[in-house]
Amino acid sequence: MTKKELALEIIERLKKEYPMAECTLDYDQAWKLLVSVRLAAQCTDARVNVVVQELYAKFPDVNALAEAEVSEIEAIVKPCGLGHSKARDISACMRTLRDRYQGKVPDDFDKLLELPGVGRKSANLIMGDVFGKPAIVTDTHCIRLTNRMGLVDGIREPKKVEMALWEIIPPEEGSDFCHRLVMHGRDVCTARTRPYCDRCVLNGICPKIGTPDAES
Ligand code: SF4
Repeated sequence: MTKKELALEIIERLKKEYPMAECTLDYDQAWKLLVSVRLAAQCTDARVNVVVQELYAKFPDVNALAEAEVSEIEAIVKPCGLGHSKARDISACMRTLRDRYQGKVPDDFDKLLELPGVGRKSANLIMGDVFGKPAIVTDTHCIRLTNRMGLVDGIREPKKVEMALWEIIPPEEGSDFCHRLVMHGRDVCTARTRPYCDRCVLNGICPKIGTPDAES
């Protein structure tokens, strides 16, 4: 089976297992996803979803956040960890949205990448979830799982994983596929040394590379 064929089979099986492919960060406006994805670095989505409620109660739109002091933002987002740098990036990002884009999030990958605190992972997430464009989001689950599944070969660097996946994943499937990898990575193909291969829908086609159950 080629990598492309394997990828298509994995996509189909994961679709059946997880019919709903959704971002687990809560948001109802694009700029809020930008804020949440910055807060989600080294923090759980569940905690971010709680913390942003207080943040948006106090600063309900781009202008309000752009005008807030970094210290005011930091006081609220502190429970997400890395409070100062996250607050600084959120402040700078909101000011850029206000000053350069009339408060709107640009639907252009390169422009997203120029925003403070926004890397490829975040830019891809926005492109896929907000604008419905092709996207590959290489977070920790994506990198671990695609290596175990043999879709990429021993690649850990996010951008290189992304580029390798663009070669084998149909563009229109990328965003949902990555959401399903997150769900599968949390529930079944966990970061534990021994993932739950015995109850995995990919058992039989997955080479389980790097796990104790790997085929020799
Ligand atoms: S078979 Fe095992 S290693 Fe492969 S995806 Fe499933 S849980 Fe992960």
